[in-house]
Parts: sequence; C-alpha cells; structure tokens
Amino acid sequence: MKAAQFHYDRADNASDALRLLPDAKAFGGGQSLGPMLNLRLVRPGRLVDVSALAEGRRCELRDGAIRIGGAITHAEIEDGALDELLRESPSLAAMMRHVASGIAYRAIRNRGTVAGSLAHADPAADWVLAMTVLDAQLELLSAAGTRRVPMSQFMSGAFTTALAEGELLTGVLVPLASPGMRWGYVKFCRKAGEFAEASAAAVFDPVQGTARLVIGALDGAPACLPQLASAVAAQGAGAITAENCLAAVSSVATGKDATGNLQISIAVKRCLQQVTGEKQS
Ligand SMILES: Cc1cc2nc3c(=O)[nH]c(=O)nc-3n(C[C@H](O)[C@H](O)[C@H](O)COP(=O)(O)OP(=O)(O)OC[C@H]3O[C@@H](n4cnc5c(N)ncnc54)[C@H](O)[C@@H]3O)c2cc1C
Repeated sequence: MKAAQFHYDRADNASDALRLLPDAKAFGGGQSLGPMLNLRLVRPGRLVDVSALAEGRRCELRDGAIRIGGAITHAEIEDGALDELLRESPSLAAMMRHVASGIAYRAIRNRGTVAGSLAHADPAADWVLAMTVLDAQLELLSAAGTRRVPMSQFMSGAFTTALAEGELLTGVLVPLASPGMRWGYVKFCRKAGEFAEASAAAVFDPVQGTARLVIGALDGAPACLPQLASAVAAQGAGAITAENCLAAVSSVATGKDATGNLQISIAVKRCLQQVTGEKQS
C-alpha cells in the first residue's frame, strides 16, 4: 500500500520547524513513520523533515553530560560519532556503539534517528531502554522555549510520550560516566536486526556510586529493578541467581505470562553477568 497524499517540507532551522509543526507531523528518519504512512495507520496532511536541523545535528559536552542531537542516526553512533567527546568515558562510548549497532539493519540505522526512536516510544526499542538505564534527560523545544524531561518520565505507555503538540525532541543529555563504569546489555530476538522480545540493561558506576538495572520490551515503559541492582552492587556475582532474577522480574508488572517473565529473567541474569564479568550461562 502507498501513503495517502501529503505535503512535504524540509525545515532548515528549528524556528521554521516550530512554525510548521502545529499543523504537521515531524519526520526524522522515516523508519517508523514511513511504514505507518504506507499502512495508512497515520494520515498527516503535512510532514516536516527535521533531520537536518542544526540543533538536532549538534553533539557536545554540557552540564556533566553528553548532549546528543536528536537527528543523529543510529549508524553515526555505531560508527563512533560520540567517541571523541566521550574519550574520558570510554565505557559509555562502547555501550552507545553497542546499542546502536544492534538496532535493525544497517539500511535502517543509516536513516533512523535517536529522537525518532524515542518519540515513537515503541516499548521494545533499544534507545528507550538504553536512555532509561542511563538516566538521560530529553530536551524538548517548543515556541515557549526548551524544557528538559527525564527519560523515566517521558514515556507514559506504549507509543505514548510527554511530547506536547507542536513540540520537537531536539536532543538527549546522557550523564557522563567514570572510565570504570561497567554495563550490560542483553536483547533477545529471533533474528539479528529485529525488535527485542525481552531485554535488560544495567549500568554500574562504582565511582559515582550508581547501580541501575532496567528491563524493556514490556507492555509499556521500561521497568527498573532497583533492589536486585543494589544487591549485586553490594554482594557481587553471588546475588545473581536465577531465583533472584525471576523474583525481581515478577515483582514488577511486565504484562507477560510466566514464560515471558522467565525469558526476561534470563536476560537480566546475563546482563548482570556482563556487568560483573562472569561468563554467560
Ligand atoms: C524492519 C525494522 C526493524 C527495526 N528494528 C528496530 C530495533 O531492533 N530496535 C529499535 O530500537 N528500533 C527498530 N526499528 C525502528 C527504527 O529504530 C526507527 O529508526 C525508529 O523507531 C524511528 O526513528 P526515525 O528517525 O526513523 O523516526 P520517524 O520514523 O521519522 O518518526 C517516528 C516518530 O517520531 C516522531 N519524530 C521524529 N523525529 C522527531 C523529533 N525530532 N521530535 C519529535 N517527534 C519526532 C515522528 O513524528 C513519528 O511519530 C526498526 C524499524 C524497522 C522498519
């Protein structure tokens, strides 16, 4: 099927985009919106291409964080676009490359953007999980100015976000990590390049005293498992048992049946084993 007819505008700057947006839909890489247009699940009369905005293309260090422009593509991150800025946080740089490289196929990664992925808010999306565990803040721009929303409050449900009408996601601020930060990232899918059926991500930074563990691919936003993360931070690998992992997963509403929860708990176990340097079981 082909998309219904629409007007297409390519905005050169944020003020042009904001002027057009109230009567239009933002278009990033088109890798989620394109299929939805073709299936006629959405029929906007006008699209505003925001993939070339200077605000969306800029990456920089700011306020103890790396600001990643919303229009940066998965492929650019996979290819190390953030490495130079993150030379003092090499673990974070490696995690970003790893997450990006596991999204879909290269053709999709060439066009799909960080902002598009977060704004689309598919519960199984990789950046949704990664930006939650990394405690990122999202930069939302409207005619009234810029506001920052923590990722933990941005996604209120499947495909539902805090983005208001006429608002643009221009950037993501990810707190810098110490060089010794350890991370785990596990995504179960039947074929490489597919959305996750179960996923888990963890970030432990002994210097900053943080230990975060998050599960994704649920029926809504990712869920945090703080008690298990604290137990592993305090007791080490001994706390990573199948029973502990299943109990932690079962303690939050995942929207899955018993088999689904078991699958997530195995993702959690492997993810934590990556953090502690244990072999995967
Ligand atoms: C076959 C296939 C497999 C895939 N596999 C995966 C996977 O394994 N993991 C994964 O995470 N993703 C996967 N994806 C999705 C892919 O990552 C998309 O790139 C992403 O979901 C959307 O990014 P985009 O830039 O293409 O956004 P678009 O498709 O252009 O837009 C998506 C939505 O975001 C809005 N939007 C876009 N940019 C902005 C902005 N700056 N501000 C406000 N709203 C905005 C649009 O209006 C639209 O509602 C897959 C997609 C396909 C087609």
